[in-house]
Amino acid sequence: MMDNQILFSALDALQEAVFLLNRDRRILFANRRANEEFGGQFVGDDFVKVIRHPDCIGIIDTVINGKKSGETVITVDRPTTAVIRVLVTALTDLQSNPEGNIIVSIADISNIREAEQMRTDFVANVSHELRSPLTAISGFIETLKGSARDDQKARERFLNLLEHESQRMVWLITDLLSLSKVEASQRVRPTGTANIGAILNRIVNSLASVADVERKTVRINIPQITDIPGSTDEMTQVFQNLIENAIKYGKRDSEVHVNVLRQEVVAGMAGPSLQIDVIDQGDGIAREHIARLTERFYRVDNHRSRDKGGTGLGLAIVKHIVNRHRGRLKISSVPGEGSTFTVILPLQ
Ligand code: ADP
Repeated sequence: MMDNQILFSALDALQEAVFLLNRDRRILFANRRANEEFGGQFVGDDFVKVIRHPDCIGIIDTVINGKKSGETVITVDRPTTAVIRVLVTALTDLQSNPEGNIIVSIADISNIREAEQMRTDFVANVSHELRSPLTAISGFIETLKGSARDDQKARERFLNLLEHESQRMVWLITDLLSLSKVEASQRVRPTGTANIGAILNRIVNSLASVADVERKTVRINIPQITDIPGSTDEMTQVFQNLIENAIKYGKRDSEVHVNVLRQEVVAGMAGPSLQIDVIDQGDGIAREHIARLTERFYRVDNHRSRDKGGTGLGLAIVKHIVNRHRGRLKISSVPGEGSTFTVILPLQ
């Protein structure tokens, strides 16, 4: 027979909170996790002192009254709100053995619940984002087949609208594919070397016509050698998104500045790093929105974003890529004056 002490040590090593109760619901033993999570020494107390929730107590009582096991999921405040799964099991047949014990094990499943909720929201968002252009496309096709059939001018107008809406869907699908690709490789370190200076020059050249149309001037300031360990493709996506946003959300006839500098010491970074600031002179972003900008489909102004061809996924992609490169993304803004998006990347 194994020593009780060894068994209790084994229970102490578990991630879940475990309580051993007698038939009167009194606690005979609580493992280390249970004491940490529920903050106390409970031996001798009624289990009600740990969790008062009627569903939880109900399940324990049904097991005391003869059921082999039972399970429930409840929300508790302790002190922050958590969703927990409570599993109650009789160690022996409690009907025939009045000395028998029961085990209550409790797992915090808040993270799993949150992930499930995020997935559900994401599917709902994607469906909604795809349905809007599709509804518009079907409407335009109807009109083209009907009232606009013999009207050359109207036909041209509707064909342009069709082109615009289908382009929106292409952008959305492209961003969704990028996002799923970077999410899938989140834990894998990127290989290769990315020359940030060359990437920034290429992006600014390729965006020259967009900047012209939007009447913005982009100025880059790259004083040093700017090679970092990382993926050229992904870094291109990061700065393409940030510079495009700075152009899109900047005021007319304003400037966008892209500054690069080497930092020897940055809080939270192990060694020297490269800091890239993308600064615009736009309307800025109110404080309450800043923390949420990197959530998928989060937009400050839905209408404005869609109008500019935005998918609402750009900053989510940026955040994932920067994380994968063990870097930092910081956003600061003064409403009415403009915003600065700072990317800090390790140089080693
Ligand atoms: P979008 O495709 O809508 O631009 P992003 O993920 O790139 O999506 O950005 C999310 C939201 O953040 C935007 O809809 C916009 O409201 C806000 N935003 C991003 N960049 C800027 C900026 N430079 N200035 C002001 N707001 C910005």
